[in-house]
Amino acid sequence: MNNPAYDGNNIFAKILKGEIPSYRVYEDEHAVAFMDVMPQAPGHTLVMPKQPSRNLLDADPATLSHLVTVVQKVANAVKDAFDADGIYIAQFNEASAGQTVFHLHFHVIPRHEGAALKP
Ligand code: ADP
Repeated sequence: MNNPAYDGNNIFAKILKGEIPSYRVYEDEHAVAFMDVMPQAPGHTLVMPKQPSRNLLDADPATLSHLVTVVQKVANAVKDAFDADGIYIAQFNEASAGQTVFHLHFHVIPRHEGAALKP
């Protein structure tokens, strides 16, 4: 089955256009990283492409390969900044898998030994 079409009215598209505020911690020509408003742990950061993609299923390979390098940069920066023991990376595709905002993004979440994630 084909992936549903990208809808440019999603909240992350509005963040990219500057129509709603975000706390950006990284930006380059193709990607943006910003803090999650409802963090599952302190330092929870989201990494998204500027290219409109609904999720990983419809993203073009060039977008994805660059995005993963940004995820790596952000993961190392967040690990240092929050003195984390590890980094949890999550990425959901479609509502059935937990996706609620339909613009491709990766969650980068610092983890500390013994600390639970917020639900
Ligand atoms: P889930 O909501 O199940 O984590 P997603 O992977 O689609 O599914 O994640 C959307 C994320 O976007 C959530 O972690 C949510 O807290 C975050 N979020 C929603 N609105 C904003 C916003 N305006 N600025 C920053 N983060 C946001």
